[in-house]
Amino acid sequence: MSNKLTGYDDTIVALATAPGVGAIAVIRLSGPQAITICNQLFPSKDLLQQASHTLHVGSIVSDGKIIDEVVVSLFKGPRSYTGENVIELSCHGSPYIQQQLIDACIQAGARLAKPGEFTMRAFLNGKLDLAQAESVADLIASHSAASHQTAMQQMRGGFSRELQALREQLIRFSALIELELDFSQEDVEFADRTQLYALIKTALEVVQHLTDSFRMGNVIKHGVNTAIVGKPNAGKSTLLNTLLNENRAIVSDIAGTTRDTIEEVLNIQGILFRLIDTAGIRESVDTIESIGVQKTLEKIKEAGVVIYLFDVIELTAADIRKQISLFEQDGINYLLVGNKMDVLGESEALAKFAGIPDILFISAKDHAHIDLLKDRLVQKVMSGDINTEATIVTNARHYAALQSVLQALQDVRTGMDSGLPGDLLALDIRRCLHFLGEITGEITNEEQLDWIFSKFCIGK
Ligand code: GDP
Repeated sequence: MSNKLTGYDDTIVALATAPGVGAIAVIRLSGPQAITICNQLFPSKDLLQQASHTLHVGSIVSDGKIIDEVVVSLFKGPRSYTGENVIELSCHGSPYIQQQLIDACIQAGARLAKPGEFTMRAFLNGKLDLAQAESVADLIASHSAASHQTAMQQMRGGFSRELQALREQLIRFSALIELELDFSQEDVEFADRTQLYALIKTALEVVQHLTDSFRMGNVIKHGVNTAIVGKPNAGKSTLLNTLLNENRAIVSDIAGTTRDTIEEVLNIQGILFRLIDTAGIRESVDTIESIGVQKTLEKIKEAGVVIYLFDVIELTAADIRKQISLFEQDGINYLLVGNKMDVLGESEALAKFAGIPDILFISAKDHAHIDLLKDRLVQKVMSGDINTEATIVTNARHYAALQSVLQALQDVRTGMDSGLPGDLLALDIRRCLHFLGEITGEITNEEQLDWIFSKFCIGK
């Protein structure tokens, strides 16, 4: 890491809570002068004489005028979020007071923080690694229990520890191989090839597992595009209403969502299911096979999961078989749901559609088996239990880097299979190390950091 980046001598200030009116707002200062600046505005007590991790009640006075009664939280570096001296002013949450307090801090010598600058300082001072710092942004943006859990897990360093262990082993081996190069005349092998081979194999498994988890990570972070399709009168609107009544998710503006194509969002077991353009599909789909409307078909293909709802009285087993083969042709992740079980009865329905696996029979009208439907939906997109304790990759930057790690590891293995000399193996191992380091921030540059932290909001 370049030294130019560390050792800030300026002090930054920003509103840490959401802008607007609230009962309380928090203004955060970080930097070498944080305590001194606050002290100039706080006549009640000499803050310079106070211990770290203490609270102080008093007025903030600027230009002889009291701005507000506040609670000052005082943290001395390095035992603080950013690793620097940090002051948090809890004030009354009026936008006017917030602005006045920030202005007073700026007058006293602070400057307004850039987006993500607090977290960037925490990273540069070694308080968090890059993957952890990025998870702070995810944590703030989390909209469901599952996305909250994964971000939390990552912030606490689970992901980083896994990568770190891998990196350390690879470093050891690359050091041994490079040592061999110094003795190249003598034809010695310090790095035991069998052990290296085993290590590469394990590393490949770990990294493969992590890259695979990205699909799940995406599901957790962004939700799943979901379509309910079927013939008219199958009961799609009824089912939609039943699901929405119980599970309508409260979502504001989430990145990656276009309001005009997403109508409703369900929160089922912490996963967001975004019902895509259901109105359009409802109107234009007779059966999927007779779709002339290419656009609708594309929508269905875009969906992470398609609920195919059919009327158990009207449709035959042959109809369903035909439908299945169409879905499979197009590689669609579908769930077969037979509706109106209240009319036909489950055992009759089972007999009528015997031999077709995995049909779930429900009654949208009577709310029967809706819980089973929810379980099936979650299983369809999570492929197994949701284990949010496990490391799940949610960040596209990490995913790209992990794919490069995977490629480099495969190259090492192929190289070993074909008896590649140590110096060439060492190059591929270094490539692995490079990409692993990019994730946690051992290898980084200023532009990359600016890019990452610019995605944060101000005050974080
Ligand atoms: P859509 O055209 O697929 O959206 O179907 P609707 O939701 O409008 O339902 C068509 C008709 O089927 C309506 O009269 C519903 O009341 C009825 N219906 C929907 N679900 C059920 C069900 O589970 N059982 C029964 N008996 N009727 C249902």
